[in-house]
Amino acid sequence: MIDGLNKSGRKLHPENTIIQLGDTLIGNGNLTIIGGPCSVESEEQIIEIAKEIKKSGANILRGGAFKPRTSPYDFQGKKADGLKLLSLAKKETGLPIVSEIVALHHIDLFDDVDILQVGARNMQNFELLKELGKSKKPVLLKRGFSNTLKEFLYSAEYIMSNGNENVILCERGIRTFETWTRNTLDLSAVPLLKEISHLPVIVDPSHATGISSLVEPMSLAAVSSGADGIMIEVHNCPEKALSDGAQSIKPDAFRKIIEKSMKIKEIL
Ligand code: PEP
Ligand code: MN
Repeated sequence: MIDGLNKSGRKLHPENTIIQLGDTLIGNGNLTIIGGPCSVESEEQIIEIAKEIKKSGANILRGGAFKPRTSPYDFQGKKADGLKLLSLAKKETGLPIVSEIVALHHIDLFDDVDILQVGARNMQNFELLKELGKSKKPVLLKRGFSNTLKEFLYSAEYIMSNGNENVILCERGIRTFETWTRNTLDLSAVPLLKEISHLPVIVDPSHATGISSLVEPMSLAAVSSGADGIMIEVHNCPEKALSDGAQSIKPDAFRKIIEKSMKIKEIL
């Protein structure tokens, strides 16, 4: 038992946490598939991608509206308008939506968003975590790229101890000495987190590798490692994407990953 994991630890809560969004369950033993663009760019873009991923069997649509970019000169997202377009795609497809929240005062803009994402850069933004603890909405908490698993679970505790126990953990790669990949996907994190914690664990192979050709093999490896789901960046035209085009895959490739992932899940 690790000290202080009062809410996220398995010791006091042996059974898995299952998160429910309408008919979508996360952490119930099925594989949850989240797909969508890095950034919401236009109505046509998000609606087209949403329809494609729905056809392929995805459960949840992702799309960034407030983008925490490394350079202030890069595309910062469509902000409130981006969230409105995401809502439109939700209405059109019936898919629940997940989007990143970067600041406390934006919370009212996220009324129609089903899952609030906390990005890697904000994993230890404790004031934000405490505030999300007062929300009833599930929080998808991404691991910071320089954070240990212990720090990751303490961040989950910040949300849970403030009243919101609906937390989904997301391994998205950590920074190592390797430079050929954007990050290094720490897959051993998946079974270890699941041993120590009852929270669902999903994997983001897109930000973990930064390379579109690695998304399929790492997705399959993630499923094999016992992940409860995968979150993949999908774009209808990756060459023209306003952010993260190099790691984005087309809807066709996404569909193939889902088909293969479901076969692996069956074997497991
Ligand atoms: C994202 O998922 O859009 C994102 C910015 O990822 P991360 O916080 O893991 O870098
Ligand atoms: Mn991205």
